[in-house]
Amino acid sequence: MDWRTKLLNPTPRARLDFKSLATPVYRGSTVVVDNQASVKDDWQQAEKGYSYGLYGTPTTLELASRIADLEGARHTFIVPGGQAAIALVYLAYCKAGSHALVPFSAYGPNQEMAEGLLRGMDIEVEAYDPLIGTGISKMIRDNTTLIWCESPGSVTMEVQDVPAIVEAAHTRGVSVALDNTYAAGVLFDAFTHGVDVSVQALTKYVGGHSDLLLGSVSVRDDNAYEVLGPIYRQLGLAVSPDDCSLALRGLQTLPVRLDQLEKSALEVAEWLAMNDYVDAVFHPALPSCPGHSYWKRDFTGSASVFSFTFKEHISAESAEAFLDALKIFKIGLSWGGVTSLAVVYPDLNRPNKDFGGRLVRLNIGLENAVDLIGDLKNAMGDL
Ligand SMILES: *Cc1c(COP(=O)(O)O)cnc(C)c1O
Repeated sequence: MDWRTKLLNPTPRARLDFKSLATPVYRGSTVVVDNQASVKDDWQQAEKGYSYGLYGTPTTLELASRIADLEGARHTFIVPGGQAAIALVYLAYCKAGSHALVPFSAYGPNQEMAEGLLRGMDIEVEAYDPLIGTGISKMIRDNTTLIWCESPGSVTMEVQDVPAIVEAAHTRGVSVALDNTYAAGVLFDAFTHGVDVSVQALTKYVGGHSDLLLGSVSVRDDNAYEVLGPIYRQLGLAVSPDDCSLALRGLQTLPVRLDQLEKSALEVAEWLAMNDYVDAVFHPALPSCPGHSYWKRDFTGSASVFSFTFKEHISAESAEAFLDALKIFKIGLSWGGVTSLAVVYPDLNRPNKDFGGRLVRLNIGLENAVDLIGDLKNAMGDL
């Protein structure tokens, strides 16, 4: 063979019996088969064997199966991010003429998709009060195909009565999808509480180090698997095995990170609750959080992200100055990593409340909680 040909037709000499504790990173688009009769193009690779890298590699499918195990799911789809996971669920469960319900505390881009892409496709997505509970029955129509829950909600942290919503939905044959990112798939058991589809931004706690973007869509049964699978394939939601490898690493330390983050976040939240400048702390484990009783009933712990509001006499400009005065907390969106973050939502309003630019969302990281409290205290000194 010419050396050029030989480069592409190597004689492998490296031993393959390397038993690493780490899942190898398999990169690949094409899957080579033994003969023409074996060529197939089936996305159900977990069951039917590998056909094409788009539907997953051994690295991707390993991550998928570990998330499925963690959540007690029938199957998990890994997608490029949490928002892609949300899009996949909408597009699988809604078609032209469908009606869907989403809490007004849902992740912003979820609501944007409802108002944008979906509206253009003649899919009506109606917002509901996250604390509606069984009252959701009245909003279900004959053409309702999907109800979203997100508990606690983004930024305003309302904890939902998910079992009540599930019961009302299932009575009318409607599927329930939960954005379970806050719970990291563990602090709230979605499937035991009746949810059909559980979504996570793996970007947050599973990744855990602010260095990757991935999402997961986990299904409770064959029914949901059949609804989502073909749409997952049609959308071509490929993910990088390198990112999946980082997520697999993140999973190994998830328990210790969650434990420490919970402790520190509670310490900071409890300090804020006693602070003279602070009006309310929206931390699910504190009674001041809307829906706290559902958290107590349904969750096994709390996580690192929560919000607080300044009292009325603190202006939006002062809230901004407070943020700029922080030294240890970094200013930034997202959460679930090891670094403490703070951000003000100047325009955030809910149908039932105007926050007047006085709401601050915090993500607590792995810094010493005493230092974090000191940082908040110093920054408040300038108010
Ligand atoms: C961050 C987030 C998402 C989106 O995740 P990305 O990976 O950034 O696309 C979805 N839902 C919730 C609740 C989130 O916090």
